[in-house]
Order: sequence, then C-alpha cells, then structure tokens
Amino acid sequence: MIAPRLTLPWRRTGSRVAPRHRIGATRSPRTAVGGAMAGLALTAAVATAVTPGIADAETGTLAETRGAASPAPSDDPTASVVTSDDSATLTATAALHRAETVVQQTESLPRKQERRIERRAEKLSAMLETRSEAGASRAAERAPLSAADQGSATTKATEKSLTTTAQELTKLLDRAQTSAVDVEAAPPTPREVAKEQATKAEKAAKKISRHADSLDGFANGKIPGGKLKNLSFAKGETLRADAAAQLERLNVAYRAKFGRSLSVNDSYRSYSSQVATRASKGYMAAVPGYSNHGWGVAVDLGDGVESFGTAEYTWMRKHAPEFGWDNPAWARADGRKPEAWHWEYKPIG
Ligand SMILES: [Zn+2]
Repeated sequence: MIAPRLTLPWRRTGSRVAPRHRIGATRSPRTAVGGAMAGLALTAAVATAVTPGIADAETGTLAETRGAASPAPSDDPTASVVTSDDSATLTATAALHRAETVVQQTESLPRKQERRIERRAEKLSAMLETRSEAGASRAAERAPLSAADQGSATTKATEKSLTTTAQELTKLLDRAQTSAVDVEAAPPTPREVAKEQATKAEKAAKKISRHADSLDGFANGKIPGGKLKNLSFAKGETLRADAAAQLERLNVAYRAKFGRSLSVNDSYRSYSSQVATRASKGYMAAVPGYSNHGWGVAVDLGDGVESFGTAEYTWMRKHAPEFGWDNPAWARADGRKPEAWHWEYKPIG
C-alpha cells in the first residue's frame, strides 16, 4: 500500500488565506515558511493523526492511526513501533504548523527572527520528508518496521535529531510570541480613548472658536444648509461647525465606551419645524425662535441617553462637558423642565 501524499491546504498571501490553487502564484516575504510547509508532503496517516477530521477512507488506516495518536496498551510489537515513530513526527509536524501560524499572524516579528524560524522550519520539513519517504517505501515493500529496526542506532539517531530540531523551532516560536506581546501595545481602554479625545477637544477649542460667530447675521432657525456641518455618524443631522466638531470627538469616546455611536434624534431645527414642534408638544417645546436647536448648537439624543439614571446618561454628564456639551441645568432631573435627551453646546476654553 502506498499512502497518498497530502500537502497542507492553507497558505496565506498578504493578509488573507489564499485558495489552494493559488499556492505559489505570488510570494510575499512572509510566505517562506509556507513554502517549506507546502513542499512538505505528509502521509495520510500523519495528517490524519494531526487533524482527525480529514480521514482518508481510501487508506483504510484511520483506526490504526487513531490508535497511534493515543496509544492503547497492546501486545502487538509493531503497534509500539508505530507509536514511537509517529510521536517524533507528530511533534515536528505540530511545530511546523505553529511556525506557519506565528509567522503569518505576528505582524511585528523582526525579519531576523523570522529568518531563523524559516531556516529551522525548512530543515525540519526536509527531515520529515525524508522520513515519510522511508516510511512509504517500507509500506510499499509490505515490510513494517521491525523491532530490530526500531532499536537500530540509525533510527534512534534520526528520531533524536528530528525531536531536537522540533524543540529548537518551538523555542524560537516561544521567543517570537513573547517578544510580540511586548511589542504590540494593548488596545486603549474606553477611559483612555475619552481622555485622548478630551485633550484633542481642548487643543482644538481655540482654533474652532472662529466658527462660534460664523452664523451671526442669520436669524434663529433661518440658517442656510450650507453654513451648517453634517454629522458623520448621524445621517441628515446638522450643527454649527464648532459644535459638530466637538460632538464628533465626544462620539468617538462614547463609542469606545458603549460600542455604538450616539443616537441623534434631532439637531438643527428650522424655524418652521420649531413651529411644528411647538404645535405638537406645546409647553414641552421651546417658543419658536428661541430654541438652541435653531442656532445649530443643540441635539436631542436617544438610545439610553434620553433617560435620567441610565449608564449612558451618567457617562454623558461626566464626559460631555469636556467637549463643551451638557444637559443644561433647566433640563436636568431637578430642573424646571426635565429633558434628559436635550444637550447643548457652549465653546470650552
Ligand atoms: Zn432638544
């Protein structure tokens, strides 16, 4: 019986997994280990032992192989031979698999370290190939490895150097992954993002203050659309330029905390829509011509912020003022007209 030869099916080109038929079509600097891996032909038995899911029914060796991967006590002398044979091979194959993964996924891996891993992986893969060819010819001759063979100095030496090389590779991989952890900074926490955005808001305050009087000369609710700024995260919502810029920064901090953008139900409100709002809400809406919505410096928020005491409202009360935004005193829980959803902008600094 000649065991079918399998090549490893995955191989990354650039940042994605390339389909198998494209192997070798392009070579990026990070595919060298992949090259060594693709060049490595494994017997179906070994491949099956490593990945039990890909059993090849044709070989009929599945049961045997499973036995080898997790040896059960047996009187059959050849069983222990296969086990010992496979254990070195399995260790080596596992190390090669890991090398492939580490080289692909560790973006910050220094070139020097990567070369060292590649050289060791190539050596190991060559050793495995030699070994698998020897195994295949034994199988072809229907002559299983005898107890004498197993004990022979040559076999032991080969197995020992295979194990040693696999261990050397493993050590290199351990080092690569440890240093990668040191190099790659942890993602910033929501608190850090909020702080960073607040610093940016403070720095920008002076520069954007010129926008504060950009609407002078227009009447409340009569501002031409072109003078207002669209919010990137809320379609169709517009504000005065400086109010919009600071709300964008506040939103970055909010999103880091809650995983979603602020939900804006209303922003600039034209005079005519103020009239309509007053008609439908009565006392709850501002007298037309006096709402801060008409100046493009107020928003009505939802998705949690609209209720006092929610995590969203509490977070906003703590952080929004750093961006010039706040739920004004009259709109707070103890204000004369409680409106948790209503937030206004006043330039900071
Ligand atoms: Zn409002």
